[in-house]
Amino acid sequence: MKAVIVGGGIGGLEVLRNLNLDATLIEPRDEMIFYPLLPEFIVDKVGWDDMTVEISEFCDKHGVHWIRDRAVSVESDRVITERDEVEFDYLIISVGAKASKLENTVDPMEVKDALKDVEDVLIVGSGSTGVEFAFELRECGYNVKVLECLDRILPTFSPSVSRFVTRLMEKEGIEVFTSCRVLKVDRGVKTDRGEVECDVVVSCVGLKPNPIDGLRNRDGWIVVDDYLRVGGRVFAIGDCAFVSVNGEVATKTALEAERQAKVTAKNVERLIEGRRLIRYRVHSSLEKPTSFITLARNRAILIYRGILIPRPMKILYKVKMNYIRSFMNRFKI
Ligand SMILES: Cc1cc2nc3c(=O)[nH]c(=O)nc-3n(C[C@H](O)[C@H](O)[C@H](O)COP(=O)(O)OP(=O)(O)OC[C@H]3O[C@@H](n4cnc5c(N)ncnc54)[C@H](O)[C@@H]3O)c2cc1C
Repeated sequence: MKAVIVGGGIGGLEVLRNLNLDATLIEPRDEMIFYPLLPEFIVDKVGWDDMTVEISEFCDKHGVHWIRDRAVSVESDRVITERDEVEFDYLIISVGAKASKLENTVDPMEVKDALKDVEDVLIVGSGSTGVEFAFELRECGYNVKVLECLDRILPTFSPSVSRFVTRLMEKEGIEVFTSCRVLKVDRGVKTDRGEVECDVVVSCVGLKPNPIDGLRNRDGWIVVDDYLRVGGRVFAIGDCAFVSVNGEVATKTALEAERQAKVTAKNVERLIEGRRLIRYRVHSSLEKPTSFITLARNRAILIYRGILIPRPMKILYKVKMNYIRSFMNRFKI
C-alpha cells in the first residue's frame, strides 16, 4: 500500500510523521516554512532555521520518498505533476493556499530587504498577520499605518478583540484607517479616502486557493466530508480544504492543519483495516476561532473559541513560543 502526500507544509509533514505506511511526498520547495513566525523573522527575532524544516532531512529521517515537483491534477489513481505522474493507493492533498496579493505589493519574504532604508510602512489588511507585522515593525521604530477595508481591524474576531487591539495600536503610535479601500498601489497608495504616503507596502490581504484540477471544489477550495475525505481514498486537509462539520467551518490556521493531519493519518489506517472512520471535530471555527496574536515586546493575546484572553500578555507570549518550539522540534529531532 502506498500513500502519496501532495504538499509538505505543516499539514503534509504532520501526516507523514503520524502515518505508518510507505509514503511519497510531492513538494516543490526545499523547506517547510512555518508561516506563523514570519513577522518575527522579518524583524530578526527568529532565524531562518527556527522557522523552517529541510524537506530532504525530514524525509530521510522518516523513510519518505520525496519527489521535488508540483502536482497539477488528480486522475482516478494517479497524481499528474509538472514532470511526471505518480500512482497512489491513498492520497492526501495538503497544498495550502497562496496570498491574494495586491498589484505592486511585496511578498512578505521580500519585505525584510525592502525595509532596509525606509521609515514609513503601510500594511494593507488587518487580519492577525497584518496586526502582528504592525506591532513588530513599530517596535523596530518604523512609522506604521494599517489600512482595513472593513469597519474594524481583526474582523474575523469579535468586536471586543478589535477594540482591545485598536486601543493598544493607538497607544503605541500605529495609525489605523478602517473602512478604507485600496484603489491603486504606485509610489504612494491611492484609496477611496485619498492618498496614503509610504515607502513600502506590505500586503496581508488574505488567501486564495492553490489549484489542483480534478477534485470537487467550492470557489477553488477542495470540499471534504466529515472525515476529511474528498471521496474514495483521497483526503484533503489544511488551508486547501473547505472543512465544514456540524455547521462549524474550520479556520485556515496551523492549529487546524495540525489537528486535521493527525485525524487523517488515523483515518487512512482505519480505511485500510476496514474500520469506521473518525469524524473530524473542528476546534478553531469561523464562528469561534482559536488563535494567539503576537503584539511584539514579548506580548501576545489568546482568543480561545472566540473568547478574548488579553492577559497576562507576557505569559501568553511564552506559552505561544513554547508551543511553536515544541511543534518545530518534532520535525527536526
Ligand atoms: C504570513 C502568515 C502568518 C500566519 N500566521 C499564523 C498564525 O499566527 N497562527 C496560525 O495558526 N496560522 C497562521 N498562518 C496560517 C498557517 O501558516 C497555515 O494555516 C498553515 O501553514 C496551513 O498548513 P498547510 O499544510 O495547509 O499549508 P502550508 O503550510 O502552506 O503548506 C503547503 C505546502 O504545499 C506546497 N504546494 C503548494 N502547491 C503545491 C502543488 N501544486 N504541488 C505540490 N506541493 C504544493 C507548498 O510549497 C507548501 O510547502 C499564517 C500564514 C501566513 C502566510
